[in-house]
Amino acid sequence: MDNLPALHTRKARVEFGHVTPIDETAIPFAIIESAEPGPTLLITAGVHGSEFCSVEAAVRIMQIKPEEIKGTLVILPILNVQGFHKRNIYIMPQDGKNLNRMFPGNPEGSTSERLASWLVTRVYPQVDAYLDMHGGDLDEGLEPFTIFPAGSEKSQAMAAAFGIPVLVAAGGAGYTVDASGKLGIPSILPEVSGNGLWGEATVTQLTDGVRRVMQHLGMVADAPKKTAEATKVVTMWVPTAPVTGLWYPRKDLTETVGVGELLGEIKNVFGEVLARIQSEKVGFVLYRLTSLAVNQGEALIGVGTPVSA
Ligand SMILES: [Zn+2]
Repeated sequence: MDNLPALHTRKARVEFGHVTPIDETAIPFAIIESAEPGPTLLITAGVHGSEFCSVEAAVRIMQIKPEEIKGTLVILPILNVQGFHKRNIYIMPQDGKNLNRMFPGNPEGSTSERLASWLVTRVYPQVDAYLDMHGGDLDEGLEPFTIFPAGSEKSQAMAAAFGIPVLVAAGGAGYTVDASGKLGIPSILPEVSGNGLWGEATVTQLTDGVRRVMQHLGMVADAPKKTAEATKVVTMWVPTAPVTGLWYPRKDLTETVGVGELLGEIKNVFGEVLARIQSEKVGFVLYRLTSLAVNQGEALIGVGTPVSA
């Protein structure tokens, strides 16, 4: 089967199965449809196969019953199936590319480009809202945040409803929720946990957020309350490694930084400093590479700069 079954039958149902839109890779799906009409929410996870927290959260959401909701949930819990089983960082092993940089994809391209294209042309147009869960890859530590495509008010409102206090207004292109946002679909990308961990508190942070988004969309009446902490909208600046070497970060997660402050150094194995990474922004540390090994071009650290209260 190279496409999902019909999303709407107007009968209460749970349908589990596999879809094979690219190569021979069977991607699991769940469709949970209520007899009562309502919005269609798409939830994806495992775009980055080793972000296990996102996958486990999706697996739990798949146990929601049709009578608990209005509308339809479509869940793709492990988009990068081979990357999940091989525990790859960022990439799809079939072509070595980061799926979350390939959108809107290319139907004639390599594996990740074709998977992105299938989502954009066959799946996104069928849904009313989209939530792409991430969970901190094996080599990254992070403070939880929710990315939304900058300028999309509906996406920002959905990000606020999710309940993580830090919202990242993202520019650029190539990632899941940018492509769906361009189709006019409110879309968010929450990121919690880190280093591939999938502890109970972080899995629950994702599943609770999904419930709050479902409440925001009118699919459920109740959801767990969010923290009282005020929402902060930030932009994120992410310097990349100018050289290959050993990475020594000098700032911790949540630590504040000023312009010109040292964020970290890259040394060679003999202790010589090859590069000093200084902040170009005022803000606080949202994300950092936790691996000692670093390769030229890789993201090192994310500095969030508040744009509004
Ligand atoms: Zn990710």
